[in-house]
Amino acid sequence: MTGSLSDLLRPDLRGLTAYGAPQLDVPVPLNTNENSYSVPVDVVDAIVASVAEAAAGLNRYPDREFVRLREDLAGYLSRTTGTGVRTEQVWAGNGSNEVLLHLLQAFGGADRVALGFTPAYSMHPIITRTTGTRWVDGRRGVEGAGSFDLDVASAVAQVRRHDPNLVFLCSPNNPTGTALGLDVVEAVYDAAPRAIVVVDEAYAEFARPGTPSALTLLEGRGRLVVTRTMSKAFALAGGRLGYLAATAELTEALRLVRLPYHLSTPTQAIACAALEHADGLLATVEALKTQRDRIVADLAGMGLDPVPSDANFVLFGGLADEQDTWQALLDQGILVRDVGLAHHLRVTAGTPQETGAFLDAMRSLAPTHRMEPSR
Ligand code: PMP
Repeated sequence: MTGSLSDLLRPDLRGLTAYGAPQLDVPVPLNTNENSYSVPVDVVDAIVASVAEAAAGLNRYPDREFVRLREDLAGYLSRTTGTGVRTEQVWAGNGSNEVLLHLLQAFGGADRVALGFTPAYSMHPIITRTTGTRWVDGRRGVEGAGSFDLDVASAVAQVRRHDPNLVFLCSPNNPTGTALGLDVVEAVYDAAPRAIVVVDEAYAEFARPGTPSALTLLEGRGRLVVTRTMSKAFALAGGRLGYLAATAELTEALRLVRLPYHLSTPTQAIACAALEHADGLLATVEALKTQRDRIVADLAGMGLDPVPSDANFVLFGGLADEQDTWQALLDQGILVRDVGLAHHLRVTAGTPQETGAFLDAMRSLAPTHRMEPSR
């Protein structure tokens, strides 16, 4: 007896939709929160030299423990956050998506529950479900109040109700852009006594001054994990390098689920060369923050509803029909993100020219695309 492929697929995957941010060749791509600045020439040279040096040794498997890379990542975190993160506390993967997968493989699974607070990063539920873990869609914001903030009382109540095995917090949060107070992280940790609490800090480097990292809470919290990535501020999305910091005991558990040699020799060489030039790569962060704040100010001036942001993107509301506006922008070669929130779109802060093209287009669209106040 032959069945259709969908009959053969795992029942819990049937009918699900794959991650699918459009990859279109447009003049102004502002939809996946990449860093719009290309890698500077001196860093390109360092990467090429580092990969060239490693090339003759490609007949051998890579360093399975990626020791030098973990040392460099620990050094970067310690230096920039004033924490004493040690090499054995660091773990890495092919993008932070992979380190999230490792966490779910190790701590999720059948009969286990992961809780997140929607709207947040769309891959948290997708990765959760691929591991057979049950996803519980918690909520940010106060129903009807138009706010996406997550306060201590709401987070604690939701955590207590579901008693999850994993909790996902995202700070600065994608797609809303706002960072979480550390009081929320501490309260969630205390209210979920059996949960691994994951704080996804993919956009941490873009946070407004005075925004503390959850890395400062690691000491004494054995179930806390902070994930980071080189895909955003480091302008290395194509290099695929994400990482996390937690206790050494927790990172040891991840060795049970990773595939052997999961970080290729070129990946390790590229990431180490990039970390050696961290200052040069991160030099674009201030420029991108300026463009982000320009987007917030200009969209507000057009009568739209941008959410102030700690990331390299801005969520904005006040659109009559977000799909119409998305298409109208695309017709002008500008690709932004429809994150599935009614009346909202998300736009990445780009170069001044890209940002200007987006804002000019919005200025001409706003009068006809704005939501009427009476509606
Ligand atoms: N976390 C968040 C909040 C993100 O927005 C993204 C990418 N959009 C990631 C993690 C994953 O990025 P990467 O796998 O490139 O590290």
